[in-house]
Amino acid sequence: MTDDQMVTRAFIRALENHDVLGMKQIPKGDLHNHGSMGGSLSILEALTGIRLKKAYRKFNNIVEMQQWITNHIYPMFGGKWGYETRTKAAFLQAKQDGISVIKMSIDMSSINMYENSVQKLVDAIENIHISTAPDIQLIPEIGIDRGSPISTSIFMVEKFLESDFFKSIDLYGDELSQPISRFKDIYKEAKDRGLLLNAHVGEFGDAESVREAVEILKLDHVQHGIAAAYSKDVMKWLARNNIQLNICPASNVMLNRVSDYHVHPIRLLYDNGIRVTINTDDVLVFGKGVSEEYFTSHDAGLFTPMELDEIRRSSLLT
Ligand SMILES: [Zn+2]
Repeated sequence: MTDDQMVTRAFIRALENHDVLGMKQIPKGDLHNHGSMGGSLSILEALTGIRLKKAYRKFNNIVEMQQWITNHIYPMFGGKWGYETRTKAAFLQAKQDGISVIKMSIDMSSINMYENSVQKLVDAIENIHISTAPDIQLIPEIGIDRGSPISTSIFMVEKFLESDFFKSIDLYGDELSQPISRFKDIYKEAKDRGLLLNAHVGEFGDAESVREAVEILKLDHVQHGIAAAYSKDVMKWLARNNIQLNICPASNVMLNRVSDYHVHPIRLLYDNGIRVTINTDDVLVFGKGVSEEYFTSHDAGLFTPMELDEIRRSSLLT
C-alpha cells in the first residue's frame, strides 16, 4: 500500500469513527481563507486571555456580518496589534487542524497599518507564519475589495505585485458594486506574473456571473461559485474548462445563501463533474475548521467518505 493509500484509509476511518484527533492528523488544504479572520474565538481567547462572548449566528447578508465584526471583534482586536494577533490565531487554527496548504488572502488595505509599505506588511506576515506554523505551505494571496475605487486598486495591486511575495490573487466584497470587466487589466498582469487567479463570484450573484468572471478574468479557481448550480449549462461549461470551486459550506449556511447542509448545492456541482474543495472562509465568524466541515458534510449525507477523500486531495493540488 502506498503512503497516499494509507492516508486515504486513515481519513476514511477518522470520518466514520468521528475521530477528531485522527482527522486533524490528515493532510488537508484550506484554499479559501481570509487571513486575519481565520482563527476561532477560542484560539483568540487562549492566545490573549481576552474573553469574547461566543456569538456565532446566522446573518442575512454581508453588511450584517460586517456589523457583527465591528461590534464584537474590532473593539478588542482592532489596529495593528489586533490584526497581527488575529493572523497568528489563523495560523494556529490551521496548525491545530492539520492543514498542510493554506491559501490566505491579505487585504491590500492592511498596509495602512504598516506606513503604506507592502514590504513591512509582508515582513509581518512572514514572521507570524515562521514563528507559528512554519511547516504549513503558505500561498499568500493579494486580496482586493471589489467595492474599492478601481483606480486605487490598480495602483495598489502594482505595488503588491512588485513585492514578489504573492502567489495568488482574489477579489471579494460586494459582488454587485462594479462590473467584473473593470478588473481585467489587473488580472492580466497577475497572470503574466504567474499568479493563481481567483475571484468571489456566484455567492450572491447568479450562475451567469460565474461564467462571465471566469471568461473575462481567466480565473483558475472560483471562490464559492455556488450559484452555478442553478444552470446546467454553466455547470457543464465549468466542468469542461476544469474550473475549481473553493466552497465554504458553513459560510454559505451562516450567510443564508443555503438553508442547510443537507441541501447544499456542492453535491449537485460535484455530480456535474466540477472539481470542488471544502474550505473555511472566516473561522472567526463562522466557527468551523476544515476538519469540522468534513465531519458536517459527511454527517449531513452530502458525500461518502471516499468522495470526501477525493475532495481533500483536490485541496492539496494548487
Ligand atoms: Zn470568502
